[in-house]
Amino acid sequence: MSQKSGYMEALKCRECGRKYPLEAVHVCEYDFGPLEVVYNYDKIRKSLNREVITGRPQTMWRYRELLPIAGQPTVGLEVGYTPLIKADRLAEKLGIRGLWIKNDTVNYPTLSFKDRVVSVAMSRAAEMGFKTVACASTGNLANSVAANAAAAGWDAFVFIPADLEQGKVINSLIYGAEVIAIKGHYDEVNRLCAEIAGKYGWAFVNVNMRPYYAEGSKSMGFEIVEQSGWKIPRHTVVCMASGSLLTKIYKSYREMIEIGLVDDTEHQVHGAQATGCSPISTAHKAGMDFFKPVKPDTIAKSLAIGTPADGFYALKAMKESGSSCDDVTDDEIREGISLLAECEGIFAETAGGVTVGVAKKLIASGKIPAEDEAVLCITGHGLKTLDAVVGHTGEANIIKPSLREFESLLSNVKKVAVN
Ligand SMILES: *Cc1c(COP(=O)(O)O)cnc(C)c1O
Ligand SMILES: [Zn+2]
Repeated sequence: MSQKSGYMEALKCRECGRKYPLEAVHVCEYDFGPLEVVYNYDKIRKSLNREVITGRPQTMWRYRELLPIAGQPTVGLEVGYTPLIKADRLAEKLGIRGLWIKNDTVNYPTLSFKDRVVSVAMSRAAEMGFKTVACASTGNLANSVAANAAAAGWDAFVFIPADLEQGKVINSLIYGAEVIAIKGHYDEVNRLCAEIAGKYGWAFVNVNMRPYYAEGSKSMGFEIVEQSGWKIPRHTVVCMASGSLLTKIYKSYREMIEIGLVDDTEHQVHGAQATGCSPISTAHKAGMDFFKPVKPDTIAKSLAIGTPADGFYALKAMKESGSSCDDVTDDEIREGISLLAECEGIFAETAGGVTVGVAKKLIASGKIPAEDEAVLCITGHGLKTLDAVVGHTGEANIIKPSLREFESLLSNVKKVAVN
């Protein structure tokens, strides 16, 4: 088996521990628990160290042994290794000593962290012989599946809620994918996709391929640690839809400790949601282990999952690490987007506004102490969610092509310095 499975050993049920072969399956037959990839960490420890990693190309595949593929990647070879930016001006605004932005708004090729999970899922699907890829998406996943399928020459079916931002819909259509817009919330899209996945032999990245797909999110955590000088950040703030990204970033830190890449220093991974869709945050704040499903109503459509598949595990990870969790209103999300743009020159989508807004709250309340340092995971680009900020940015000054008009305008604009 090891020849064909690389550093993976099996799939394993997170609930009962039963093992399954490394196929396109995602739930346990006995208790419907989610399946997760098990690795041979002894084998990984022998072949992966800091020197080997830093000697490789600057993509997320420098952590290949800790990602669920058997051989070499074949889809999304350029993904990852996005910048970790020192955000001094935003740090001052939020009142914290040290702040960094992990900037996945510039991920390749579709400007969100979903490029990580899709390239892992499709590289694994290629190993299994699939040629058709599909997904249930809140927007960014559909974009990445569509683009990567186009580049790989595969057929793609992407399923989205019908009320998504135009930028997200166009960004799937342009690559020639079949876009199916469902009149309903993401949770209904997802339910339909579970039925379709059972009937058609497609690689549904976040249904039957979910155990592999989800592991791709770990790469964001691996890179953060490496780019922080081989140190786990004291605080990481992560926005949540299904809760998978947060769960996997936490796992990535544990794995790096496990294989000896980094010291086990104190760390917390705080969750962020939009108040209009905050099942995980609401449960966490109430001290509950289980969330109550909600009907989403928020401008953060990429995070609008009312029944989060990994909500239970995200709550568990936050509890285990003594982390905090909070949520922000639509106005606070827009404020977060503006703060990040004006302080750091980074235009994030609504999900980024959620992360910044929640970080601001956690710092203000002392849950992230002002003398500490934090990393904010900024997961997608703002040009795809213009709908959310139209009418909230101020307006362009329209004048005739005349110096007199310009100077009369200038006398009314306080900000401009004339040298
Ligand atoms: C999907 C998505 C998330 C959250 O992903 P989960 O792993 O489902 O919690 C965060 N940010 C953006 C921009 C996304 O598209
Ligand atoms: Zn089970």
